[in-house]
Amino acid sequence: MARIVMKFGGTSMAGIERIRNVAARVKREVEAGHQVAVVVSAMAGETDRLVGFCREASSLYDPQEYDVVVSAGEQITSGLLAITLQAMGVPARSWLGWQLPIHTDTAFAKARIGEIDTTALDESLASGVVAVIPGFQGVAEGNRVTTLGRGGSDTSAVAVAAAMKAERCDIYTDVDGVYTTDPRIVPRARKLSKVTYEEMLELASVGAKVLQTRSVGLAMKEQVRVRVLSSFDDARDEDGHRGTLIVGEEEIDDMERQLITGIAHDKNEAKITLTAVPDRPGAVGSIFAPLADAGINVDMIVQNIAHSTGSTDVTFTVPSADLARSLDVLEKGQGEIGYASLVHDTRVAKISVVGVGMRSHAGVASTMFQTLGARGINILAITTSEIKVSVLIEEDYTELAVRVLHTAYGLDAEAA
Ligand code: ASP
Ligand code: MG
Repeated sequence: MARIVMKFGGTSMAGIERIRNVAARVKREVEAGHQVAVVVSAMAGETDRLVGFCREASSLYDPQEYDVVVSAGEQITSGLLAITLQAMGVPARSWLGWQLPIHTDTAFAKARIGEIDTTALDESLASGVVAVIPGFQGVAEGNRVTTLGRGGSDTSAVAVAAAMKAERCDIYTDVDGVYTTDPRIVPRARKLSKVTYEEMLELASVGAKVLQTRSVGLAMKEQVRVRVLSSFDDARDEDGHRGTLIVGEEEIDDMERQLITGIAHDKNEAKITLTAVPDRPGAVGSIFAPLADAGINVDMIVQNIAHSTGSTDVTFTVPSADLARSLDVLEKGQGEIGYASLVHDTRVAKISVVGVGMRSHAGVASTMFQTLGARGINILAITTSEIKVSVLIEEDYTELAVRVLHTAYGLDAEAA
């Protein structure tokens, strides 16, 4: 007997028919003798609909009331799954965020989970009752409902798994695992049987949409074994496994190790260039401090060599969603920063290659630059970390870049 968490995403929960499919999967695990907690998302599209209502009601909505509204989608699916399980003869009950409770801080609409009280959960599981927990929600001091940021039910699942010391956290979704790249762009992308926490963290943060980035960070910190798998397809690998396991590096043997594990792309960044910024100490600080104060995350940064005129151009990227606010902050700061002009471009994409293998191998970045160069793709900015190289390119070249890099690093599957 093991304790497991099963998490089902919005596509898996969209409609009673699909909820029956989910219930059947839960029933199988219960019949195998496991103690099961299930974490569910709202039906696909539902949270968007609820967010839309808030915006329509007032563009300056109160985040505390926003959380009351948008957390409702998961309340519905958790109740429906409990009803469906009961109808199949599986004892089940729902536990809303405030009932367990799942404590969070008071950062409404993007709250962080603190402690999860497992007293009730432990009792429920020990008595053989499946606990159905709505993802994405919690409760903050003052007894207010909170939500964890879009895609947050992955984080709920990992947090519940950590709190109840689950053997693993199975995340059921509409794809059968984590791929070397987006299979819609590269049909010869391969499913990875294992990926390290660190790699998954990088992949999620640079555009791979399988898991919320925060959930991967939490899994790494709490050492939760996460598996990503399909709720629609039971196909197994040649070695009998399903899905992709996200685990510590020590669990991956050298045989399986590739130089590059995956290639991600992200079209949600915008490029900003400030021209003729004075070349003096403090100039760069005066650009980024007000952006940080406004809560805007700057990602890639390039500062060019100073011109003979004693000034330099500074280029960087911000999330597209924050572009308008960034421009506002920078225009207001023109006097203090002292730049000549401000240019921006949203038709850019960030392409990243990720792999722990690059720690011990030279030449990963140069392969990337040469491969792109050979196709006439210009590089606008570069950033690197120990296990990642990212470049900014023109958006129109996204698919081509991903495809040629996938081939260049030897990731293509044998047959399509
Ligand atoms: N329903 C929420 C969302 O759409 C949370 C989740 O599904 O992970 O963002
Ligand atoms: Mg999701």
